[in-house]
Amino acid sequence: MHEMVNRRTWLKTAGLAAVGAGLGVHCASPLEPNPNGTQLRRVHVSRNRIIRTTVGLRPTRPSGFVLRSETFGDKTIIHNFGHGGSGMSLSWGTAHLAMELALETGASQVAVVGAGVVGLSTARLLQQKGYQVTVYAKDLPPRTTSNMSAAYFGPTGASQPDHTTPEFENVWHRATRLSHRYFQDYLGDEYGVRWVPYYLVSHSQNPPSPQRGLGRLITDLYPETAQLDPSEHPFPTPYVRRRWTLQFEPSVYLNALLRDVRLASGPRSVVVREFTNLDELLMLDEPVIMNCTGLGAKPLFGDEELHPVKGQLTVLLPQPEVNYAVVGGGLHMLPRRDGIILGSTREANDWTLEPSEKQMERVMNGNAEFFDAMT
Ligand SMILES: Cc1cc2nc3c(=O)[nH]c(=O)nc-3n(C[C@H](O)[C@H](O)[C@H](O)COP(=O)(O)OP(=O)(O)OC[C@H]3O[C@@H](n4cnc5c(N)ncnc54)[C@H](O)[C@@H]3O)c2cc1C
Repeated sequence: MHEMVNRRTWLKTAGLAAVGAGLGVHCASPLEPNPNGTQLRRVHVSRNRIIRTTVGLRPTRPSGFVLRSETFGDKTIIHNFGHGGSGMSLSWGTAHLAMELALETGASQVAVVGAGVVGLSTARLLQQKGYQVTVYAKDLPPRTTSNMSAAYFGPTGASQPDHTTPEFENVWHRATRLSHRYFQDYLGDEYGVRWVPYYLVSHSQNPPSPQRGLGRLITDLYPETAQLDPSEHPFPTPYVRRRWTLQFEPSVYLNALLRDVRLASGPRSVVVREFTNLDELLMLDEPVIMNCTGLGAKPLFGDEELHPVKGQLTVLLPQPEVNYAVVGGGLHMLPRRDGIILGSTREANDWTLEPSEKQMERVMNGNAEFFDAMT
């Protein structure tokens, strides 16, 4: 979408300036009907509509998340961390696989360390299997990285293509499909999970579907994918692909999961506690410890590969009439009840949580140019 800024130039060179300028050349169907049968509404992007700016650090590992068990004397630690830009999407899937590892231990009491989306999902699945679960975490929602997520179903941001192994690809594939299925049991306002039409916009032609990378394995998880003709969409880019995706509202969703954990195991099942080293962790009473500490796993376990990728979101006043998402060219717009979410930014190895004015400016300008030019 950064190329959106060249839209007027592009319109001229493509000979479609008349459409953009509203000179009487009308599209057959200028605005594609959304699921409610209404039209795609313009997002109002202006500084006086900003309600907050958020920053989160994606717990990133180029070779992908860590999912394995490790024994320390009579304790078993099951690692489930390092999901990068895809932790929301993969949460149920890796929680399910981590639960399978816990089942192998034969223990009945489990400590889950971490109360982001990965820890809470892991805790819920273990509770559903009858485990006695205690969650320990330095921070609870809404003060987790998971709360700073965008957040739509995009599992391919968990690794970098040239760093992964076929073994990881298999585990990732299984986790992705499990997650996609689990999330559908949480659709609705109570958990803040829904399907939205999602438009991938581009100035260069998209292949009909991903041919390479992890995305090639899951094209069927995005229903009704279609390349749209310029007459079928209102966007100022020549190439638009629409598909449907799951979208999550982190504040609603994480609060609901935290509530569910407490309801299942009692209010004392969630303990606010920080562990400063591995020895402290190993002093827990529970024989099995699920390590869902995200970026916190770096100091605790000395994981060299794990590093932050800073991401900043600019949030505008909610527009309930906007019920579609747009992604492309390094920008995105996601419609949520708690605001219109504009992004995105990626700054590797930046540990600061300070919002960047420069990044905000880029995101605001790019989105403003794009939506102002919608027909
Ligand atoms: C801007 C942005 C946009 C994103 N968009 C998406 C998206 O669209 N889709 C998607 O799937 N993902 C997205 N992500 C990625 C996603 O947010 C993360 O992958 C996910 O939140 C990681 O979850 P987690 O539970 O592993 O970590 P966290 O949410 O960081 O939770 C870690 C937990 O461990 C606790 N902890 C850590 N260290 C310790 C310690 N020493 N002692 C005790 N407790 C500890 C913390 O307090 C916390 O409770 C986005 C991220 C950002 C920043």
